[in-house]
Amino acid sequence: MNKNFTALAAMAMVVALAATLIGCFLRAPAEAFAQSPSDGGQKLIYLTFDDGPSDAVTPKILDVLRDEKVKATFFIVGERAEGRTDILKRAFAEGHTLAIHSFSHRYDKIYSSKDALLKDIEQCNEVIRRITGAYSSLYRFPGGSNWVPDYLVKAVVERGYDYVDWNASFRDSEIVNPTPEQLYKAAIATVSHPDKIVMLAHDTTDKKTTVSALKKVIRHFKDEGYKFRAFM
Ligand SMILES: [Zn+2]
Repeated sequence: MNKNFTALAAMAMVVALAATLIGCFLRAPAEAFAQSPSDGGQKLIYLTFDDGPSDAVTPKILDVLRDEKVKATFFIVGERAEGRTDILKRAFAEGHTLAIHSFSHRYDKIYSSKDALLKDIEQCNEVIRRITGAYSSLYRFPGGSNWVPDYLVKAVVERGYDYVDWNASFRDSEIVNPTPEQLYKAAIATVSHPDKIVMLAHDTTDKKTTVSALKKVIRHFKDEGYKFRAFM
């Protein structure tokens, strides 16, 4: 192969890779994540629970968080708050943050247009306001922002919301019938940004194993010197 061509191809690959990395860096962490206190070199972990509340799991997660004296962020599904506002009121009263995930969590509906997405966000936010007395400005895209079309991400930001993805996960929505040990190991193995971890877990009805793994995960990161934070 022509030497110049090889060098050019290699350079093009480096540029493409750099662009991808910069793109990921700019898009993946939310404004809220970037603006959260850095605490002067203190390692931080943000536990986040998506898709709840549920009767079976959310109260048990709250029990563990209370016992471990740890605050977390719950990205709620508005529709599921129906008949479960007491659970969310408890979470709020105990110092956790309630933030917007979705009202319906139906991808086909919410991602069909800008208006549909913003309407879904505002419907969910209305549920939060009824519980906490204030609207949230923090949002998590169902499925994560990385695969959401740019115009939809832009619409959300322009409406004044910060969004936050995650950089570590229990993988409790991917592993089929996991053991607590598998989720514990996943939570540690998926850490890609060790100074500031945003950990994804779920508190839906079928996530009882998440509860079983939670205490051990919290203890691990405490032992590693992390401080736990909720998004504000
Ligand atoms: Zn979700």
